[in-house]
Amino acid sequence: MRILLLSDIHANSEALDACLAEAPEHDLVVNLGDVVGYGASPNEVIERSRALGKVFVRGNHDKACSGISSMEDFNPIAGLAVIWTRTVLRKENLEWLRVLPQGPARIDGVSGVQLVHGSPHDEDEYLLLLPEALRSLDEAEPWITFFGHTHVQGGFFASSDDSAAIRPVYNAHAASEKFLFQLRKNVRYMINPGSVGQPRDGDWRAAFALFDTDAYTVTYYRVKYDVAGAQKRIIAADLPERLATRLAQGR
Ligand code: ZN
Repeated sequence: MRILLLSDIHANSEALDACLAEAPEHDLVVNLGDVVGYGASPNEVIERSRALGKVFVRGNHDKACSGISSMEDFNPIAGLAVIWTRTVLRKENLEWLRVLPQGPARIDGVSGVQLVHGSPHDEDEYLLLLPEALRSLDEAEPWITFFGHTHVQGGFFASSDDSAAIRPVYNAHAASEKFLFQLRKNVRYMINPGSVGQPRDGDWRAAFALFDTDAYTVTYYRVKYDVAGAQKRIIAADLPERLATRLAQGR
C-alpha cells in the first residue's frame, strides 16, 4: 500500500494544491493535523482535505480554532490567526474540526504504524531533537510513528545499537525534489513528512511524504508552490504580515 502523508497544511490552499499536483500515485491519504491556523484559506483546505480521505489526527490549531482548547500556549500572532479563523469558518467545517480524533491513531489494515500530531505521549509535544524523540522511540510499540507539529521534515530512528536524526538531503531549493529513505526491519522510526503549508526548516517549499508499505520506504518531497498567492491572501485577510513573510523564508 502506498500512503500519502500530509501534515500541518495550515489553511494554505496554494501549497496543498502543489503537493497534490506532484504527489505520486497512492492508495490512501493520512493527515497528521493542523489543517487550519495561520493561513487564509481554512474553509477551502478543510473541504479539500475531507475529500481526500478519512484518516486524521487533530492538531493544536485544529483544537484552538474550533474552540475546544484555549489559546493559552499560543503566541500573539498565532492567537490572532485563531480568532480570525473562528470568524470565517463555515459552521459545518467548524463542527468537523471539533470532532477530529486525538492521536495516537492506527490505519485499518496496516500493522506496526501509528499516527500522532506531536508525540505518542502528548499530542502537543514538540519532538525537535533526538533526546526528546528517544523516549517515544524506546517505548513505541509500533515500529513506525508518523508525526507532525514541528514543521521540520525528517524524523528519527533508533535500533538496538544506534540512533540518529533523519534529514532528507536536497540539491537545490529552486526546483521540486524528492529524497528516498529505505527503512530497515527491527528499527523504530519517528517520521515527519514536514509541513505542507508553513515549513520551518529553512526550506520554503511545501513538504509531504509517501510511505510504501511493500517496499518499506519513505519518500520525502519538497515542491515549489505559489507563495506569492498565499501571501496575498493572508495580507488581504488582514492577518499579521509576519504570517505572509515567513512563508518565503521557510521559518
Ligand atoms: Zn502546525
